[in-house]
Amino acid sequence: MANSTHKRLVIPGPVEVRREVLDAQTAWMIGHRTKAFEELFASIEAKLKQSFFTQNRVFIHGSSGTGMWEGASRNCIRDGKKALHLVGGAFSERWAEVSQLNGKQVDIINVDWGKPHTPDMVADALKKETYDAVCVVHNETSTGVTNPIKAMGEIVHQYEDTLFLVDTVSGFLGAELRVDEWGIDVALTSSQKAFALPPGLAFAAVSDRTLARAKQVTNRGYYFDFVEIDKLLQKNNTPATPPVSLMFAADKQLSDIVAEGLENRWARHLQMRDITTQWAIAREMGLFAQEGYRSPIVTTVANGLNINVDDMAKFMGGKGFSMDKGYGQIKGKTFRIAHMGDMEISTLEEVLSGLDEFLGV
Ligand SMILES: *Cc1c(COP(=O)(O)O)cnc(C)c1O
Repeated sequence: MANSTHKRLVIPGPVEVRREVLDAQTAWMIGHRTKAFEELFASIEAKLKQSFFTQNRVFIHGSSGTGMWEGASRNCIRDGKKALHLVGGAFSERWAEVSQLNGKQVDIINVDWGKPHTPDMVADALKKETYDAVCVVHNETSTGVTNPIKAMGEIVHQYEDTLFLVDTVSGFLGAELRVDEWGIDVALTSSQKAFALPPGLAFAAVSDRTLARAKQVTNRGYYFDFVEIDKLLQKNNTPATPPVSLMFAADKQLSDIVAEGLENRWARHLQMRDITTQWAIAREMGLFAQEGYRSPIVTTVANGLNINVDDMAKFMGGKGFSMDKGYGQIKGKTFRIAHMGDMEISTLEEVLSGLDEFLGV
């Protein structure tokens, strides 16, 4: 293994994976139509429910988060009906596009990048039009904004036929999320962000309402058919061959996460957010995300000092860190410091002092 050249990942996904978790993938292969697999599935499932704070089923699927977007859009929006997408960054924009590419009708509420969506925006839109689903990104990884999901859920739930779909790809296991209490019908995520697993697994907490809706949608396809996935899940299994090695790693990682405690994990992320934002303010860098909505898992630095992000990344590479240089339309004007997953505060402090050295302060 090329450990000597490994740079620790400070990018907002994929994130650094601990050696013990990587090693869990090397267990002997098992067939997925076996008792051993059912036990593995059940073990992961129980810990996922605990982590999503839900009594609902949680899908475990071999794909990245993008696949689960497709599944959610496809299973939750009926022909002739519409979805409301809240767009304020690269990921929320792409999900809206995914819905459209699946032939769904979409209305969009746009906000400037760096701004959150407010519950009032959702309330106004739902007064004017009937929607099969409201689709929102919990934590917009491109801008470092965390949306007020709980307050939005309270509004969406006043509408019986409207499902509340939440992309928590980067939020889950880093930022507070309570599926049942917040009335979330689909909370979808993938393995390589705050979960701190290798990429390749998607997860979704799915309500009974969602499954009832899916049954009314005629053209659900097969690979992301929620009804089919649920049928196999009831037998602790999956319709197609799952990435079993990744599931060994997920089982190990979830045990460690439950041992850390979900609330403790959220608190550690908030602490890292505060350290990072205070650092950026003290250096007069500026912050891209609006105050009050700054993400616990990634900080988008506004680059007010106009540093050359390529030089910064090269310098930090020499210190053994792989850094981000900004995403999409705000690349270079911003850069992101990810502080998620299993990152320790001491590692973040090393990153920030490396950046200080680059800035010459
Ligand atoms: C990374 C990311 C995605 C895409 O997930 P993949 O697992 O890369 O397909 C979607 N939404 C958000 C908020 C993300 O950060």
